[in-house]
Amino acid sequence: MEEVKKASKFEKTAARCWNLLNEGKPFTPIFVTGTFLLFFIGRIGDGAFWPAFLGSFLLILPLFVLYYLYDFPLFLRNYLWLPFIAYLMLFKIFNLPLLLFAIGLYFFFTVFFWGTFYYHLRIGTSWLNFTRFWKLVLKNSDSTSGNAQEQLPKFLLLLSVWYYYFQEFLQGHAFADVDWAQLLVFYAGVALYAFILHRNLFDWKPKAVSTYTNNAEVPTEPLNDKIVVIVIDGMRKDRFEAAHTPYLDSLRKNGTEFTNMETVYPARTVVCFSSMFTGTYSFEHGIKSNMVWSLGVKTESIFDSLRKVGKKGKMLAVAHLVDAFGKDVETYTAVMKNDIVDSQIMKKAKQIMDEQNPDLFIVQLISTDQTGHSRGVLYDEYLQKIYEADQHVKDFIAHLERTGKAENTTFIICADHGQADGIGGHGHLDEGERIVPFFMYGPKIKQGVRVEKRHSLVSVAPTLAYLLGAPYPSHSRGPVLLEGIEESKK
Ligand SMILES: [Zn+2]
Repeated sequence: MEEVKKASKFEKTAARCWNLLNEGKPFTPIFVTGTFLLFFIGRIGDGAFWPAFLGSFLLILPLFVLYYLYDFPLFLRNYLWLPFIAYLMLFKIFNLPLLLFAIGLYFFFTVFFWGTFYYHLRIGTSWLNFTRFWKLVLKNSDSTSGNAQEQLPKFLLLLSVWYYYFQEFLQGHAFADVDWAQLLVFYAGVALYAFILHRNLFDWKPKAVSTYTNNAEVPTEPLNDKIVVIVIDGMRKDRFEAAHTPYLDSLRKNGTEFTNMETVYPARTVVCFSSMFTGTYSFEHGIKSNMVWSLGVKTESIFDSLRKVGKKGKMLAVAHLVDAFGKDVETYTAVMKNDIVDSQIMKKAKQIMDEQNPDLFIVQLISTDQTGHSRGVLYDEYLQKIYEADQHVKDFIAHLERTGKAENTTFIICADHGQADGIGGHGHLDEGERIVPFFMYGPKIKQGVRVEKRHSLVSVAPTLAYLLGAPYPSHSRGPVLLEGIEESKK
């Protein structure tokens, strides 16, 4: 049998570097600085260039910080044009060729480099993907660099202010000549504006559970031998319901479905997985986006809980989940044609079950998510991927039945987040992202139950601990999903 490739060291590093350009927050300063240098590349040999460049850089630093802290999610991004207009009225100087160059470079980066070249090399999409991708970028509302309506007004303002002070320094001005009053009034105005907008209008973040898990005592005897969690990454709920999924439908019907399962904020893959398997939120586990600055979740995970009772958990996932869970993750390479990646993952999943036989096994299928990102979610290609996921799950569970590993096993099928329109983006909880498909199936799971009550993915870790007889992870907040679990008979 052909060996399924792990993500190499190079891929793990490359994935981190890519996240610097993929996540909107680090992208903005990197893009603005790169654009500025490229535009003036002919002059960087001049003696006057660097003092002017660095001097003006210091002056725009506060604006970089401000736009890093405030991401102006969803419709708030429309408000980003006002500071730019205010700048034009107040400062009256802008460099049109620089701004046009930046706009050109931005669409080159998103539509060609990312949407066409990168996807072609990594997952084998067509060289003509840009013919669709440009529409997706214009619409996209997530927290990545592909959010044109957020990035454009941000970098146009940053470049304009930078250029303003740059040309002043070039003309021989020193810091003493800067009109500090004008600068301070402008920055204070933008800061106040951003603060008030986010405070008053950004009100759709899911509310965190305020206590640690306390709705049940872990039973002294474990209810299950095993749990298998299959996360179909980026499977949007209404599209799941529109897709042909005979096998998943049968699990849903014969198990317990949670129809109002909410993901966390920001709905980025590494954040969602971190919340699912620690039972808490980003303010506690410390993972705030796919760009992980300080490796590892800061709280106990379900893997730690299992270790305490001599059990073993394993996750099979893409390279960047190592950033959150380290050695508990077995990676597969994400550099693979999207048509075959999920079947390769399942091949590897079977191998892990055969050879390592973990008590808890978590598998991440990525093809549905990747199709959403590269081709959009409102097309038949996306539904086709969901159907394929259905068949992969069927085949995998059949393998476990054959090898005697499905008898006293709970299966949990879910998504980590949905996807919005545009480039299938997710992060700010736009329509289609927040409520995810979620159902459990197995001998200890109630049959034919639909739970309408709102729940959160932070309930996954404590529910796993409860079923396997392990202590809750240290900072687990989600309540155990008791509505789906058969009461144990004395
Ligand atoms: Zn994801």
